[in-house]
Amino acid sequence: MLDVRGLGKVYEGSGRRVEAVRDLTFTVGAGELVCLVGPSGCGKTTLLKCVAGLLAPTAGEVLLRGRPVTGPPPGMAVVFQEYGRSLFPWMRVAENVGLPLKQKKLPGSRRRDLVADALRSVGLADAAGAYPWQLSGGMQQRVAIARALAYEPDVLLMDEPFAAVDAQTRADLEDLVRGLWRERGITVLFVTHDIDEAVYLGERVLVLSASPTVVQEQLRIDLPPERDQLHTRVAPRFAELRTHVYAQVQAAKRGTAAVPTADAPTVPGRTPTPPAT
Ligand code: ADP
Ligand code: MG
Repeated sequence: MLDVRGLGKVYEGSGRRVEAVRDLTFTVGAGELVCLVGPSGCGKTTLLKCVAGLLAPTAGEVLLRGRPVTGPPPGMAVVFQEYGRSLFPWMRVAENVGLPLKQKKLPGSRRRDLVADALRSVGLADAAGAYPWQLSGGMQQRVAIARALAYEPDVLLMDEPFAAVDAQTRADLEDLVRGLWRERGITVLFVTHDIDEAVYLGERVLVLSASPTVVQEQLRIDLPPERDQLHTRVAPRFAELRTHVYAQVQAAKRGTAAVPTADAPTVPGRTPTPPAT
């Protein structure tokens, strides 16, 4: 579904040159939920903006269904971290959610159905007539998710969407995202600096190095598809995976190569070198 090939981004201007992303290559299959985890400032937002067609890369390319992304492609929705700035305060919740649908030129009745359905999906059916500033942070972020869902995207990009909400709300929203992903079969690329969140949510986790960024490691998360905050997070396998990713992120921060861990054979997704035959 999504093909990122040799992606690089150098910011230049006012005499400064920042190489944010050096060389990123990965793919996301249709219907997959992939988490990208990496330290703050490693270029996650830059990468996501390039994938979304909001920022032109300086090297490499992004392909959506085999076609180069050169501007915001139809069928892709983005949820940003700063929900406070992503909703219009003068519009009611339902109007905010329905706004991107205007571009789709759908009949009004269909638009209203999609908005109502999206608000129901995020548990906010009762808030349709409220203004964003009348809602809590967690509810505002639900509105931003509903807006993305109403658009009926094939691909949903999320950039640290829960970084600014409290822990309890965050846990609820994580379960909401997994539930929606399983229900709707959307392809999700979820960016976070939170290792536990990446392991809890993802079917696959890509560990990014420090800036200038490359993919340090790819790891398949072999936890059962049914996950819940109570049991999954205390499962021994969850602990193994998070410890492994933690070590990788630490190594990424130091800019060293991936640490060869003793438990490597128990961590599938790593590709062991086949013995020479
Ligand atoms: P992350 O989302 O992982 O925290 P960002 O993609 O926001 O990282 O930033 C990566 C690097 O690129 C940082 O060093 C940041 O200062 C730099 N950067 C981001 N946006 C710009 C910009 N518009 N102009 C110049 N440098 C930028
Ligand atoms: Mg960011």
